[in-house]
Amino acid sequence: MALQVDGVTVRYGDLTAVSGVDLSVADGEVLALLGPSGCGKSTLLRAVAGLERPTAGAVRWDGRDLADVPVHRREFGLVFQDGQLFPHRDVAGNVAFGLRMRGTAKGEQAARVAELLDLVGLGGYQRRRVTELSGGEQQRVALARALAPHPRLLLLDEPLSALDRALRDQLAVDLADLLRRTATTALLVTHDHDEAFTLADRVAVMSAGRLLQVGRPAEVWRRPASEEVARFLGCTSVVPGRVEDGVVSCALGGAPVDGDVPAGPVRVGLRATALRVAAEQEAGAITAEVVQRVHRREHARLLVRVPEVGTVEATAPVATAPEPGASVRLALDPDGLALLPV
Ligand code: ADP
Repeated sequence: MALQVDGVTVRYGDLTAVSGVDLSVADGEVLALLGPSGCGKSTLLRAVAGLERPTAGAVRWDGRDLADVPVHRREFGLVFQDGQLFPHRDVAGNVAFGLRMRGTAKGEQAARVAELLDLVGLGGYQRRRVTELSGGEQQRVALARALAPHPRLLLLDEPLSALDRALRDQLAVDLADLLRRTATTALLVTHDHDEAFTLADRVAVMSAGRLLQVGRPAEVWRRPASEEVARFLGCTSVVPGRVEDGVVSCALGGAPVDGDVPAGPVRVGLRATALRVAAEQEAGAITAEVVQRVHRREHARLLVRVPEVGTVEATAPVATAPEPGASVRLALDPDGLALLPV
């Protein structure tokens, strides 16, 4: 394991920001720390960077305890939400910063800067002033600057959060591609599921300073370890259910399950997309009353009342979404389900 976090706790006075976290990141792996604001993600990242001294536990690289290794000697690259570029330097001056610190020869610096700018899609931007760049371009420069000295670990703290949605989605895809192509080992902090799932090989879900679950994105998404993880990952209802012969049934209907799930009781987490308006004559549909309708970008989000279950969320096509008060037939969509242990 390249990075190993062993029982790390960080306290600020009476507040325990990070509590006994064990975590490892393998060589070339991208791991996302995902959790709500204030759960301790940044504090943990800062402890890894050496910006925060753990109250207990150790941060190791290839087995070596880094307690006495200062930030600039850890050979880690850092990218923060707002880039933190040097405003008085041009793009090349910013990207070359780590190389200058290392005493890299001038010609080599220029070649590496050109290589990095190409890599982040800003070829030829060397002489541009960073104050004249868009937010997305500034983050690309920050990324190029962090990667230039070949860091052994890249630490990314909400690197896309300051950007608007469309740009963030595009940059997340570009960043994922870049991290794969350069086989960069990275630890990413984010509160955004989409970002974590786009970028990470594994996701570590945190809450109130603790690690709740670590796993591949699909695993954490489909099989949350607890109701807390399920709710954080968008399940708005959790109902009892049962798996039999690869089919899960609950009060809202039945649906095939993916993967091998042993027969027996489960809890079923439902995201809004788990219940959708059924096709005419669709078998196994249930009847519910629409309580509320909200239009979203791609579909209408309904709040429906289901007899003996209560109110749950459902989705309908925008053009044909039923009005509040209407009766609607709904079927389960396996894509919107998560299975939790009992
Ligand atoms: P996240 O990154 O998940 O949003 P943080 O790691 O920033 O969470 O913060 C975790 C908790 O620690 C929060 O309650 C925050 O207020 C507190 N905290 C963070 N940094 C400090 C600090 N330097 N001094 C005191 N409390 C802090």
